[in-house]
Amino acid sequence: MNNKVLLNLIDITVSFEGFLALNKLNLNLKKGELRAVIGPNGAGKTTFLDVITGKVKPTKGEVIFKGKSLLGRKEHKIARLGVGRKFQSPRIFENLTVQENLEISVSTPKSPLNLINKNIKDEQLNEIERLMKIVNLAQKVDSKAGSLSHGQKQWLEIAMLVGQKPDLMLVDEPVAGLTDEETDLTADLLKSLSGENTVVVIDHDMEFIRRLDSNVSVLNQGTVLCEGTMETIQKDQKVIDVYLGR
Ligand code: ADP
Repeated sequence: MNNKVLLNLIDITVSFEGFLALNKLNLNLKKGELRAVIGPNGAGKTTFLDVITGKVKPTKGEVIFKGKSLLGRKEHKIARLGVGRKFQSPRIFENLTVQENLEISVSTPKSPLNLINKNIKDEQLNEIERLMKIVNLAQKVDSKAGSLSHGQKQWLEIAMLVGQKPDLMLVDEPVAGLTDEETDLTADLLKSLSGENTVVVIDHDMEFIRRLDSNVSVLNQGTVLCEGTMETIQKDQKVIDVYLGR
């Protein structure tokens, strides 16, 4: 694991007409790290992701990614710098096959893909094969993405995100609506991506977060209440009071 800091959020404040959605939030992320971000509804988790991707502009604070400030940059520029995001509901091309979806994800502005001529390079085909194995969809290569189960659609989208090779992957509530078995598989999948990839996962499901076996940042009222392993944060009285409700 590389100890290099990839992302630095410094004293981030976001005010929506006077309401502080984020309030002096500080968070650092190392390259190759898997980080879970949890917190009760309204804690500021989505706003935190929106600040990183440039969707929401902080009122105060600084966001440093790969040593560069992200403030004032447009969303597509931030994406091009290497920030990828997976939204809660899968955004896949339902009428295309699994293979075609992945072909789109591995094509870049430098080596665009022409789906009609299928002028796909060997290295792209190898990458697609690798991605399909990672998410266990090799048997579904020719199936229409729309015919997949909800869990499989989530995994396909995660594979598509990996295929884009972002330096940072932001994954928003990937297990909402999944079965217990699918939830476990998703945790194992995200875990397997760390090291090679830097991943931030936001979710409510404590069993899922536990299985990720990562460091956890607990958000409350727009700020980081506590950080550490699941074991550590579970013993923290502040967390017990506000989040676990015990
Ligand atoms: P979470 O994802 O943890 O549930 P959010 O980041 O969505 O929390 O929201 C944090 C707080 O900011 C909530 O109280 C929410 O109502 C408020 N909020 C979020 N977006 C807006 C907005 N565009 N305008 C006003 N208030 C907002």
